[in-house]
Amino acid sequence: MKQLLVATRNRGKIKEIRALLDGLVEEILCAADLPDLPETVEDGTTFSDNALKKAREACKAAGLPVLADDSGLVVDGLDGRPGVFSARFAGPDADDGANNSKLLHEVAGLSEIERSAAFVCSMAFVSPDGVEQLFEGRVGGMIINRPRGEHGFGYDPLFLVNGYQQTMAELPLDEKNRISHRGQALQAFKAFLGGA
Ligand code: IMP
Repeated sequence: MKQLLVATRNRGKIKEIRALLDGLVEEILCAADLPDLPETVEDGTTFSDNALKKAREACKAAGLPVLADDSGLVVDGLDGRPGVFSARFAGPDADDGANNSKLLHEVAGLSEIERSAAFVCSMAFVSPDGVEQLFEGRVGGMIINRPRGEHGFGYDPLFLVNGYQQTMAELPLDEKNRISHRGQALQAFKAFLGGA
């Protein structure tokens, strides 16, 4: 594939997606390269609703094949919250620090089982010739009491990965990409590109 627009302004995600698609796509553009790209209102009730909406709007505006992802954290003992509100858990302009503080506050009284959680990613590919395809990924873990690790972004420092002694923020980027929700969805996208 010659050009692919990755419809996100999140630097952490762009870094991960670039690393994973290296060699498969000649030029990866992101939202910052196209300042006129409209901001999609993420008002869907599911990750896939939002991913598809973002991809469709960006494809229409840019006339390029687009990959858009919507992802977030679901915590069992919080009935799946923050879910599709992960980026704005602590308010519309919340940063990672504020969201993590709110998460710590909300899980404070929860048992280990209730702290069980997952990162979920839904990725939508939409191209100007009418192709629309969804890819999903999920990785399980548990929310801990104190942030650990310097890598990654978002809730990574509070997410102890199932089967590891490390949080997602303690894993090097290549290991995170190998196992993460986004990594899994991108592997499925790569397989789709390979077969397309
Ligand atoms: P989105 O940009 O609407 O998909 O929002 C995703 C939000 O979910 C981010 O701002 C993070 O708070 C959280 N999130 C998604 N993926 C990850 C991840 O890989 N690590 C940590 N937090 C994540």
